[in-house]
Amino acid sequence: MKIGILALQGAFIEHARVLDRLGIESEQVRKPAELEGLDGLIIPGGESTTMLNLANNYDLIEPLRRLGFDGFPMMGTCAGMILLAKTVTNSNVETLGLMDIKVRRNAFGRQPDSFETDLDIKALGDKPFHSVFIRAPLIEEAEENVEILAKLENGTIVTVRQGNMLGMSFHPELTDDSRMHEYFSKIVSGKSLTC
Ligand code: GLN
Repeated sequence: MKIGILALQGAFIEHARVLDRLGIESEQVRKPAELEGLDGLIIPGGESTTMLNLANNYDLIEPLRRLGFDGFPMMGTCAGMILLAKTVTNSNVETLGLMDIKVRRNAFGRQPDSFETDLDIKALGDKPFHSVFIRAPLIEEAEENVEILAKLENGTIVTVRQGNMLGMSFHPELTDDSRMHEYFSKIVSGKSLTC
């Protein structure tokens, strides 16, 4: 199994380290040709507007859309989830539009309002998942075909799955807990089917 990591900007190195830890081969993706031979793709956190501009400059938007609509597994973390979302309610950026969710950018405030919390994510087992939120987006609305995997205590949706796609508001690559990447690798290998 080989998982690509979109490496235009943001926290791509950290994702590569987690995959390394799990013994999964990874490859940094900057050009359309580098998408060939991959089994899945991680879109990291960073700055969604910058990442989209760069993806445009590198002619990656259409190839990524095509792959996504064909069911290619993708995991978007933080800004990466913004790229996957169909709608961004407080910004008019044009995203990949692959997940039927509405997200709100910088929904928890500015940099000093970043926070960490333990999330109950049943798909990852009983142990809470320690999650780091950095100028994070939240999921305002998820259509019926989207499975909600985690919410904050106040009910805010922060992790979703739609078929082979995962989206989350936080940065699972910034802790020692590799379970989110492991879960994604099961989606990639076809061992975790959506309910
Ligand atoms: N605030 C960033 C954005 O809107 C996302 C932050 C992150 O990925 N940590 O693009």
